[in-house]
Formats: sequence, structure tokens, C-alpha cells
Amino acid sequence: MKGENWRDALIAEVKPERYRYDEPLAGYTSFRIGGPADLLVEVNTRAELAELVGYCERTGLPWFFLGRGTNVLVDDAGFRGVVLRLGPDFARITAEDHCLRAGAAAPLALVAETAARHGLSGLEFAAGIPGSLGGGIFMNAGSYGGELKDVVVAAEVYQPGTGFASLNREELQFGYRSSILQKTGGILVEALLRLTPGDEAAIRARMKELNAQRRAKQPLEYPSAGSVFKRPEGAFAGKLIEEAGLKGRRIGQAQVSPKHAGFIVNLGGATARDVLALIEEVQTAVFQRTGFRLEPEIRILRRE
Ligand SMILES: Cc1cc2nc3c(=O)[nH]c(=O)nc-3n(C[C@H](O)[C@H](O)[C@H](O)COP(=O)(O)OP(=O)(O)OC[C@H]3O[C@@H](n4cnc5c(N)ncnc54)[C@H](O)[C@@H]3O)c2cc1C
Repeated sequence: MKGENWRDALIAEVKPERYRYDEPLAGYTSFRIGGPADLLVEVNTRAELAELVGYCERTGLPWFFLGRGTNVLVDDAGFRGVVLRLGPDFARITAEDHCLRAGAAAPLALVAETAARHGLSGLEFAAGIPGSLGGGIFMNAGSYGGELKDVVVAAEVYQPGTGFASLNREELQFGYRSSILQKTGGILVEALLRLTPGDEAAIRARMKELNAQRRAKQPLEYPSAGSVFKRPEGAFAGKLIEEAGLKGRRIGQAQVSPKHAGFIVNLGGATARDVLALIEEVQTAVFQRTGFRLEPEIRILRRE
């Protein structure tokens, strides 16, 4: 990129409706960690999205797409470039027969709630996942035996360089905590989910039960990004970490949760540096003890 005035040049050409200079990202993440983005832009139409990403690609400006920030760790130095979010017009949810059509910015919990209200079963597992639908599909988020891949039929994706396209489930290439979007850099704007008719009371009871299990097992009283590591083949990250004696281990204000060793929590004022140091310590200790290489599930956004 960029001379001193690249931000003014971008604003003058793309004319986004909502943007902020030097916006601290901590407030946009569930970890409550992260320095400022040079420019944070919230887009509210497909045309604005295409124009903004097109501009960044043409001019070589680094950009990053942020959902609800519940699976990311942002560098203390922030991000040198453009951080892009979808605005409220991308959060609409409508019911059609046994399907829900929802914008990528819709909170997963709200999508699950809407399904329940229409007596549609299949999203009970997602009621307690704090991310957006788009982030959930990007990650193929799942819990308690369900995954988004089980219900996603099609998705509309903006692919930098080629534009908007509809992808079906096969084309989304879901895997454990992965989808094609992690390889292509495509931005999901809307998805169609196929659900099963069910009894509203039973659906709500199941959601309530799963959320109670979460509250009992997870340190929801502290900021975090959920499970830090992917589940290694044939084992559970939390169990391996606990067995390595690291439950409660602390670096600065970051701590391996004493309640659930798969979570790293921010005790108040933790830095990305603290969290990264703790991740490394956990990876080394678990590898030395068991031979398992723990791979982070969370996405790490580093200063360019
Ligand atoms: C307390 C807690 C509990 C959690 N429990 C679970 C759980 O049970 N199961 C589970 O799977 N996860 C869980 N998570 C992790 C997280 O909520 C999910 O991964 C969620 O789907 C991330 O969505 P997000 O909108 O916050 O994405 P972000 O964290 O903002 O982004 C994550 C990645 O997705 C990309 N992305 C986001 N939106 C889009 C989009 N529209 N198009 C393309 N790419 C996009 C981003 O670029 C980034 O690389 C938990 C997190 C917390 C804090």
C-alpha cells in the first residue's frame, strides 16, 4: 500500500457510509483484546462490499473480514489495513417452508431462536455459539453432535476477483472446523438452511438444556474465544492440557481456564502477547508429554 493519505483516497473513491479511523478492535472481539485497525468499514449493501474489496485488491491494501469476533485473537499492535464488517442489512432472517434464509451477519443464537419460533429443528446445537452465521459457516462451527454443515444447503459468497456466486453444500467443502472459504478468502453474505419440522416446546427445551451444560462446563464469566485448539484425532485438547498439569497456568492476565482447560480466558487486561505465549507453552508441554501437536482453532490476526 499506501502513502500517508491512502485512507482519505479510499474514502473518496469508495464512499462507504460507515467507517472509522484507528478503531480499537478489542471491543469487536469476545477476547476483548486487540489494537486498532487503520480503518474499520461496515458495509450494508452487496455493491458496497464488492466495491470496497475490489478497491483493496486493486491497490494492494491488506484487508481482513471480521464477523462477531468470537474466534479471533487480534494482535496488540492492531491491523495495518482495512477491517471489514457486514452491517445490519446483512442480518435479516426469513422462514420459507422448512428452510431459513439468513444474512451472514445474523447471530447464530438468533438464527437458532428463529428456527425454534417456526417449529424447526436442527439448530438446537447452535443456540449457545456466540458467533455469526457467516463465521459459523466459515468455521463449520459445531457442538453437542451438530455442525452447520448438517443444515446448510446453499450459500451466497462474494469471491474477490470474480464476484458473487451461489455455492451448494458440496462446493462449500465442509470438514472438521473448516470450509472452502478458509482457502479461497470468499466472503459469505447469505445462506439457506434446511431444517426439520418439530415441536417448538421440545426444541426450546433442548436448547435450554444445552445452554445449561455450557454454563456448567465453560468459563462464560470471562472474555475468551471459546476452545483455543482443534480437537486432535483420537483425543480431546482440554483433557490433554489438564493432564499436562496446565489447568490454571497463567501468563500475565491470560489463563488456561481452571474450569475448562480447552479455554484460555482474559482475566482483565490480558494482551495478545500473553495469550500467544500461553498457547506456545501449552503446545510444547502437550507435545513433549503426549506427542500430540495441538493446532489452534482460533484465527490469529497479526499486524501486517
Ligand atoms: C464462549 C464461546 C463458546 C464457543 N463455543 C463454540 C462451539 O461450541 N462450537 C464452535 O464451533 N465454536 C464455538 N466458539 C467459537 C466461535 O463462536 C465460532 O467459531 C463462530 O462461528 C465464529 O463466528 P464469528 O462471527 O465470531 O467469526 P469471527 O471470529 O469474527 O471470524 C472467524 C473467522 O471467520 C471468518 N468469517 C467470519 N464471518 C465470515 C463471513 N461472513 N464470510 C467469510 N468469512 C467469515 C473471519 O474472517 C475469521 O477468519 C465459541 C466461542 C466462544 C467465545
